[in-house]
Amino acid sequence: MSWLRQHAIWIAVWLAASVLGAIVLSSTQLARLREVFEVDMRIAHRLLSQRVVQHDAVLNTLALLQPPAQAVQPELKLPALYPQILAVHRREREANWPDAQERAAETLSRDLRRPVLAGLDLARGRYELVLASEPASFVLLMDLQTVVPWNEWPMAPRTSPVRVVLEHASQTFVLQPGTLHDGGWRFAFSKHLAAESQPFYVVATRQVGWGELPWLWIAAWSLAVAALLAGLRAWQRQREQRRRAEELLRLGQVARLNTLGELAAGMAHELNQPLTAVLANTQAAARLLRDDTPDMETVRTAMDQAAQQARRASEVVGRLRRVVERANPAQLQPMVLQDAVRDALYLLEPEMLRLGLKSRLEAPATPLAVQAEPVALEQIIHNLLMNALQALEQVPQAQRSLHISVAAEGKQGALSVADTGPGMAPEVLARVFEPFFTTREKGLGLGLSLCETLAMGMGGRLVAAHHAPQGALFRLTLPLTVP
Ligand code: ADP
Repeated sequence: MSWLRQHAIWIAVWLAASVLGAIVLSSTQLARLREVFEVDMRIAHRLLSQRVVQHDAVLNTLALLQPPAQAVQPELKLPALYPQILAVHRREREANWPDAQERAAETLSRDLRRPVLAGLDLARGRYELVLASEPASFVLLMDLQTVVPWNEWPMAPRTSPVRVVLEHASQTFVLQPGTLHDGGWRFAFSKHLAAESQPFYVVATRQVGWGELPWLWIAAWSLAVAALLAGLRAWQRQREQRRRAEELLRLGQVARLNTLGELAAGMAHELNQPLTAVLANTQAAARLLRDDTPDMETVRTAMDQAAQQARRASEVVGRLRRVVERANPAQLQPMVLQDAVRDALYLLEPEMLRLGLKSRLEAPATPLAVQAEPVALEQIIHNLLMNALQALEQVPQAQRSLHISVAAEGKQGALSVADTGPGMAPEVLARVFEPFFTTREKGLGLGLSLCETLAMGMGGRLVAAHHAPQGALFRLTLPLTVP
């Protein structure tokens, strides 16, 4: 669940790209299928039109030749040449058509001077074509099924999904059944045959189902996008990790430098007092020696020299002190407390993740700017957080919690770091800011004393307290910048 939330943007991008790809691929496929359908239907229409025009030509030729009824009767040989012509009938001038339909068609044909449809039975695929002429008129009995030149037909009639029918006068003849179903997309084609005598309507329908979309390509595209995004994410994470490692390294270097300074400050503090005492004692001794012994001169010179050495040592110590004095006021600048905390948290994110901790920063929406030296502030916050994490590592995961808050208190900006670790016993609490005081096996005991020195150097304070019901609380206060 949290993985989903963390990667929500990446998942959204992947979904959007997948859907977009699916739309583009599907519409390309649909356009291709439509193109195939339309080309096929244009060919089919042309083939059928050519055939029906041929029927007109056959009738006209018969009328023109007027073969004698008793002679060879070439019209009886026609079905052998044209399989779609089932039979040819003729009516001599004096005779009558057996069927009223043919009679009416002949009259119409005489008026129109062209062949005319009669005896339409599309259910069985039959129709007649009547041409009135002198002295005899002719009728062709046609079979629609064989009208179609199947060897040139652009589709496989039995398996093609396209349904093709011929329509006329509310009758329908199915040339090709096709497969029609619900859902998906429907292409349609309809056009009259190009022969006035047989104005059949060619109606074709093609149903494209969801299954015909290019699912394989869509899946491949979606996978490719996922792989690309995963690569990008990995690259981004790697870069982030490198940046974080570089930052930690830099902070470590600063910390080592400062620790060295703290060490020197401690030494200076320890050396200064005894040296001053040595100086006072030797001076007194020199005075005494001058009163009591004859070889006063030598002793006094020696004592003077000792005193001089002691003074020089004191000066060295003094100089050392001046060197390690940090956070000079000239380097103080406005720093947004919230940002400093967020930066430090960002650096420690992997460590917090390892401990199963979630950082919770409680802060006012408006930025709190304090007077601080950037590196010093960074180091104090980092130290306090590191100490808290080290403390939290000692308790079971369910018990771990880290609460960080930033607030304005009068003219001060305050940062509190509270953990639910083992906390500090009163005797530890009293000494945590002492240089070299540590309860940790590998501890130096300089971290907090350094932080306190740095805080004071910036005109602020650092205090430690018990955090109820369990844990430790450290509070850093720094003067807010005066606008
Ligand atoms: P070090 O970390 O090298 O021990 P520090 O000056 O940072 O030096 O800390 C001094 C001591 O203060 C630690 O050894 C530990 O006993 C105590 N301490 C510091 N922070 C915490 C904390 N968050 N919880 C409990 N004890 C702490």
